[in-house]
Parts: sequence; structure tokens; C-alpha cells
Amino acid sequence: MPSHSACAFLAIGAWRVSPAVKTGIRWSTNRPRVLRGSFALALAVASAVVPVVPVVLLTEGGADVSATALVAPAVSAPLARTAAATYDATRARGDRGSTRPGYGRVRRRGPERTGPSDPAPTIGRVTSPRPEPLTALPPLALPEPDATEAWLRARTDDGLAEARAIVERLRAEPPADALAALEQWDAVTRALSNVAAAGSLLGNVHPDEAVRDEGDRAEQEVDKLATELSQDRALHDTFAALDPSGLDAEATRLLERTLRDFRRAGVDRDDATRARIAELNDRLTELDQTFSRTIRDDVRSIRVAPERLAGMPQDWLDAHPAGDDGLVTITTDYPDVVPVRTFCRDAEVRHDITVQFLERGWPQNDAVLRELFALRHERAELVGHADWPSYDAEVKMIGSGPAIPAFIDRIADAAREPAERDVATVLARLRQDRPDADALTSADAAYYEELVRKEQLDVDAQLVRTYFEFPKVRQGLLEVTGRLFGLHYEPVPDAPVWAPDVTAYDVTSTADGSPVGRIYLDLHPREGKYGHAAQFTLVDGVAGKQLPEGVLVCNFSRGLMEHDHVVTLFHEFGHLVHHVLGGHGRWARFAGVATEWDFVEAPSQMLEEWAWDAEILRSFATNAAGEPIPADLVARMREADDFGKGTAARVQMFYAAMSYYFHAERPDDLTARMVELQQKYSPLRWIDGTHMFASFGHLGGYSSAYYTYMWSLVIAKDLFSAFDPADLFDPEVAGRYRDRVLAPGGAKDAADLVEDFLGRPYTFDAYAAWLSSAG
Ligand SMILES: [Zn+2]
Repeated sequence: MPSHSACAFLAIGAWRVSPAVKTGIRWSTNRPRVLRGSFALALAVASAVVPVVPVVLLTEGGADVSATALVAPAVSAPLARTAAATYDATRARGDRGSTRPGYGRVRRRGPERTGPSDPAPTIGRVTSPRPEPLTALPPLALPEPDATEAWLRARTDDGLAEARAIVERLRAEPPADALAALEQWDAVTRALSNVAAAGSLLGNVHPDEAVRDEGDRAEQEVDKLATELSQDRALHDTFAALDPSGLDAEATRLLERTLRDFRRAGVDRDDATRARIAELNDRLTELDQTFSRTIRDDVRSIRVAPERLAGMPQDWLDAHPAGDDGLVTITTDYPDVVPVRTFCRDAEVRHDITVQFLERGWPQNDAVLRELFALRHERAELVGHADWPSYDAEVKMIGSGPAIPAFIDRIADAAREPAERDVATVLARLRQDRPDADALTSADAAYYEELVRKEQLDVDAQLVRTYFEFPKVRQGLLEVTGRLFGLHYEPVPDAPVWAPDVTAYDVTSTADGSPVGRIYLDLHPREGKYGHAAQFTLVDGVAGKQLPEGVLVCNFSRGLMEHDHVVTLFHEFGHLVHHVLGGHGRWARFAGVATEWDFVEAPSQMLEEWAWDAEILRSFATNAAGEPIPADLVARMREADDFGKGTAARVQMFYAAMSYYFHAERPDDLTARMVELQQKYSPLRWIDGTHMFASFGHLGGYSSAYYTYMWSLVIAKDLFSAFDPADLFDPEVAGRYRDRVLAPGGAKDAADLVEDFLGRPYTFDAYAAWLSSAG
């Protein structure tokens, strides 16, 4: 069944004590939310929503990820995935080489989610001709803001009723014709997706709280029905009895996906097994929630004399006055711990808060995690898999459990020398202050990396900002992507929108003027609005049925932007363009970003490159005097950004190894295994007595698949290698990329999409070359 995506890609705005925070970025108080942009059907969903925890930011070494999404992997792991949110995990690193206090920032988009993917049966099948391009499909007519609540309720009720009616027909009179059955099933997917998408979007962006609550309700209703359908034995039997012989490749793929979803949910098992699976799903959801909540609630703190805070930015100091006893409280929440670890000159203060940060969740989460790993293993075995990683990887581009450690080792090897160079540079700087230092730990890494950037890679962030005025950046983004993908964006000033500063554009093909979709840009902070950066689906595109529509939801300044935010904007737009270009296929299940979870970030990670190209930046990054950003400044920005990439890659592989081995081996002593893995992979030495895994929130949402961020980056670098650095707009390459990678959506395996574009299977070469280059 369609299970596919629910996507909203959220990338995280940077954390800073900055306008963003003041205007509503909710770093540490993320509301539990599933950003379900589109989601297709049923099977998919099941439980999905689990509290979103701002996870590991800067866990070890200032390089890490955060954000979360969450699906209860257990419940419907296969399914859940499908339905849940997608998000961008990001690396947090100190603000590069800036002369201003940028504090820590979260950067680098990471994995989000997406639906499962199967090996597509290709032998002996005929590819169906693509349906006729959409011609006269009207965009969804959104209501005026004050009529939204009633409109959303009606859309929810009608969509759910439609889905139920189709399912009833499927149950009452199961079609013998496979295509007819699949069409009905996909109509259910589409109906549920429409409800979930509108609910998720409006639940996250509408200024009126009653509408947001209505949106949340819509999502919950869809989850409920989807869970019910995922466990429906009669529906499974109907699809299992179909004769696939007359189906074309895409329909065959849809049928196989549908059956696979049922299989992964255990619907085809005996009653006792199904009962045990249901029990496991419930317990796994509970454990996942407990794990996250324990981390979230375990806010620790230290108290220090004000004079020990030298180096901290003034606005941070202003916000942290001493208490009655003359001491300042520093908590383990990100707005404290990130800047302190990045800027505080007192090594002991950095050490003390780092230890507290690493100890969150300990010891309670040790037992919670051991039970979680054991039950996930049992859950996987009950549906025929050797272990949890194999079960989880079945629906991903990586394909199998054992491929995960092989990937980790490969990346770790490629990063070995670059990491050694990074550490030598940082350690040399550390020894100027502490001559006897023999290793780097996470208590010093962020601070000294920041110093190296500042002292050796001089980039004045204040100067950089003067070249990025929001209106010019937005215009530049549209011109760059329009030229690259052959698209024209026509403003639709009359389109009803949910808030005054939201703009709507009709997207058409510059080749023939045909409609491609509609997009909305909601780019500035507003009270009650979702606080990070994400792409939300409004409508999943299906040929002849409905036009694809998507929304960028971000929180950028209206004036000058950080370059990092410009990169985020390009990244998110990458998801948006994938959504609309991929929304012209036959099946809702495969619409837009419905590709494998470990691939879905790649197109967006690749589009970031256009925001780093000096020639391209010259076209829109001009200061108040109209002077374009100098190429040598862009080169230094890039160098500063790249600094530490070897260390970051090794640290990421340490996390990925924990994520994999904890699930594959289920060790009794998690601490001992963590220390071994840290010694093997991370260039940062373990701080004695700490238990970082207890607060490694991604063990919940990513389970054994933390490798995904790096995986999609490898693919992104490989995709980008096909473009000529001297002409990033080469129409032949760009057109081929658009048509072969983006347009198919999830109708083919990602590995095949990549091969169709590159003319060869994907390789690690481009990534390895990037990793070993300078920096
Ligand atoms: Zn993303």
C-alpha cells in the first residue's frame, strides 16, 4: 500500500540568540509534531507521531545533528516511516570564522524521511507510457483565512469519508482485475494524503490557533484510519490474490510495495504472531517516547562565577545575569550549551557543562534502550528478518543490514587522513594554551575549531551578510532554479493565503508553458508558526487528478541574511522542486519526494552547491552599493565551511556505528560498546565516565539508520560530479537531471534514478575527492 511519504523537510534554522529565537524558533520546546506533507496512504502511517525532541546537537565534538521527527519505528516501522515527518538533521558547528558571535549554529541538512522502496522488478516488464501531462488541472482553491477552520474540517471529513467508502467497496467487492484494485487503493492513498497534507501544513503555519488544532486533529484522524487499514487482513488477502501478469512496471511496483507493507506489518502471520506484533508495537512506541522524554526532561546545569565567562557574546551575557549568590546558571539546553562550548575561554567551564550535557538521560535510558533494542529485534524476526537493521534497511537505498557497517567503514577510511589533519591543526592551537594536551575531546573541539577559523580562515560574517538582502536572495533563488530546471514562476497575487507575507506562484514549464504546479513561500517568522525550515506538501500531484502544490516554511530575516540561511533556502527549495516536478506520475504513492529515506536528502544537498558558486552568487548577492560578493570572499567562506569536515565525518561514523551495532548486537554493556566504537571511529577522545548514548535521541527515530545523512551526501556529491563546474546551468545536464532523477518521484528505485542520470552506478569517488581536498 502506498505508504509513502509524509514529507516535510525541515531543516533547522540556526540556533542563535538572535532574531530568530526571539521571534519564535522553538529550539528546545519543539511541539510534538509530525510534518506530514504528503503521505500516502494508509499502511503507511500508523502511529507516527511521537514527540519531537531536539536531539543531539553538538554531542561529541561540535559536529552533529539534531532535529527529529519521529515516528515510532516499531510500530509500523515500515509504515511509520512512510508517514511521518521528515526533517533535516543538521550539524551544529560553531559559526565559522566570524568576527561576530554567531554562536553555535545548526547546519547541514540531513536525513528526513520518505517512503520505502523495493527493488523494482524490471525484467520482462514493459514500462507504461507516462500519462498525459496535466493540462487544465486547477490548483487547490484555499479559503480566505477566516474561513479556514470550516474549510479544513470539511476537507478532513470529506477526505476520510471518501477513503472509507473506497475501502468499503474494496472489501465488499474485491476487484479481480489487479489494475482496478490498485487504482482504488491509490485513490485511498490520495484521499488520505490530501487530508494529512492540508492538516499538517495548516496545523503548523496558520495564525489562528483553532485552525492549527483542527489541522492536528486531521492528522490524528488519518493516522488512526491508516493504522486500522495497515492491520486489515481482508485487504491483504485481496491484494495477495491479484494476478500481476498484465501490469506494467510501475503498477507491478505498486502492487509489490503494497504487499510488502502488509508483510512488514505482519498482517499475513498467524493470530498469535499478530497479537504479539501488536503488543510489541505498543511497547515500542512507549519506549521510544520514554527515551525521548527522559532526554528532554533531564535538563542539567552548572553554576559559575561571572568572571569565568570571558569570551561569551555580550547578548548572551546580558541574558544570563548572576543570581543572588553571585553565580550564573548554565543549563544543558542548546541556547546555553552550544555557545558556551564554542566561545567560553575557561576550559573548566566548558568541560563541566560538556560532561553534564553528555550525561543527560543517564542512567534511566540505559535500561530503556536495552529493552528497545531487544524488542525491535524480536519485531523484525517475527516478520522474517535476521535482525532489526536488516528489516529497516529493506526499504532503503542501502538495501541490507550488513551494507551499513560496510558503508561506515568505507567513509571512516576515506575520512581518516582528513580527520588527522584537522585534529593536528586544532590540537596545535590547543597546545598554545595547554602545552601538555595530548588529545582533543568534545569539551575543547568546538572552541578550538572556532578559534582556528577565526584566526586562520578570516571570514567576516558581518561583511558577508551585507551581500545577502532577503528580497534579492529570493529573486535570485527563483532565477537560478528557474533557469536550471526550465521553470517559470508566475506570482499569483490574488491567491488566498494563510498569512499576509505568504506568496503564491504558479509554476510552468519554460519549454511549452504547461502547468507544473503551484508553490507557496512562507519565509518569515510569525507568532505560532512552525519554527524551523521545512518543505510541506499541500497536494501530491497525480496526473490527470490533481496538480502538485508545495510550501516552503522557513523563518528567515526580512533584511540581511546569513549565508548559512541562504544555503538552507536553496536546500529546502530542492525538496519543493522535487515535489512539484515529481508530481506528474500516475500513482499518488510515488508522487514527488516519495523516494527512499536515505536518498531523499540528496537532491537538496546537491542544490546547496548552487548557493556556493561564486559566479552564481554574483548574480544576486550584491550589497547596498550594488557590488557583487567578491569571489575570493566566497572561496574563504567555503574554506571555513569545509574546515573540520574530516573530523565531522569520523564523528558521524561513530554515531552511525552506535546506531547500527547497538541494534545488531544488542550488547549488555552499552557504555563499554560505545567507548570501543568511539575509540575506533571518533578522533575525539572519550571523556571518562560519560554516557553520551543515553541522550543520543536519534536511536529513537533513526534506529539503526543514522548512516543516512552521510549516505545521501555521498550520493549528492556523485550527482553533482556530472555538472560542469564552469557551467552549472548546462541545459543538457540539468534537463537530464530533472527528467531522470526528480520527475520520476518514487516510481523507481533511487539507485536506478541515479544510474539513469549518470549513465553508471553511483560511486563514492566524488565524495572521497571532496573529503580529501584542502580543508
Ligand atoms: Zn532536507
